Amino acid sequence: MSNIESMLAKFAEIAENPKKQLDKFVSEGKKVIGCYPYYVPEELVYATGMVPMGLWGRSGSPNKAKKYFAAFYCSLVQMNMEMALNGDLDKLSGVIHTTLCDTLRPASQNFRVGINNIPMIFIAHPQNRKPKYGIEYSMKIYTKVLNELEAIAGRKASDEGLHEAIRVYNENRQAKREFVKNAGKHPELISAVQRSAVLKSSYFMEKPEHTIMLKELNRLLAIEPVVEWKGAKVVTSGIICDNPALLKIFDEYQIAIAADDIAHESRSFRKDASENEEPIRALAMQFAEQDQDPILYDPEINSRPPHIVDLVKHSNAQGVVILMMTFCDPEEMEYPSLAKALKEEKIPVLKIAYDHQITDFSRARTSLQAFADVLDLRKI
Ligand code: SF4
Repeated sequence: MSNIESMLAKFAEIAENPKKQLDKFVSEGKKVIGCYPYYVPEELVYATGMVPMGLWGRSGSPNKAKKYFAAFYCSLVQMNMEMALNGDLDKLSGVIHTTLCDTLRPASQNFRVGINNIPMIFIAHPQNRKPKYGIEYSMKIYTKVLNELEAIAGRKASDEGLHEAIRVYNENRQAKREFVKNAGKHPELISAVQRSAVLKSSYFMEKPEHTIMLKELNRLLAIEPVVEWKGAKVVTSGIICDNPALLKIFDEYQIAIAADDIAHESRSFRKDASENEEPIRALAMQFAEQDQDPILYDPEINSRPPHIVDLVKHSNAQGVVILMMTFCDPEEMEYPSLAKALKEEKIPVLKIAYDHQITDFSRARTSLQAFADVLDLRKI
């Protein structure tokens, strides 16, 4: 096994075993905070000496959670609740619940009612995040979240600790951005399954450790010669695409992921926070500067379609695969404008239904096979 392969195997082992990671942290005497998507300032958790872990649901079907949600709630939210109701999250010292869409908002109250043994910290990001009053509102909300985290941690976060947390997270975001570029350049070395595992493992690791491993992987990839890729290259877009069964089909038909606009992946590490500002303001400004995301209010221009067109052009991709999360209103409502922008640029697009309950990807297989043929024909 090469050095690259053995590193990829380590990332995969962690990505596949979040429970093992949680048990490890707790056995080391660390408190762990579960973080719902999207845009949780995990730096605040880190600065209080606790470990943030991502909560993006898991593969499977809700059973107990059905009591709390109508059937049209997305599987991400339903499976987070299912895990909590099953006791899988009992070792968490708290959960930060976000409210950025019409599903998350009521789901936070269901969590409050249904889960009594895990303290919930409610984070209500502002819709108008860019004006001065939006930044000030975020600062107030983040200060409130920090106070609640400090109460759970039993210690205060120092100003120095907050600055350090921002530095640690910026370093990790930079390493992930570099990895995404390297994976796009080296699909012969990094499969779609492995690419996903490297990025997913970050949600279950302490960031300094993830950064060290990822920097080493990036170093190894940077010295590899770039070889011609015989298959197709695409940009993926959507909320999450972490199911190895689906990603294996990408690999089977030699559809490499050249870049992504996935909320669970690149959308979460596009922007750094300033290291020269007062920390809470830096985090509020970082959120204000987030764009190109249908979850965020965009009063003037819809910046996501041109962003995806640019991603295709700059990554030398030939098409876009949209992983449409079932019952996700923000993504579904924006799909027509995205499809129109891609059509105007003559960029082929494939839309695949995705959610945590899907176990049979045979329809996706047929679509991806046909899409690979379409992209291949365009190369001639
Ligand atoms: S944005 Fe979509 S996938 Fe995410 S929580 Fe809301 S409805 Fe679910």
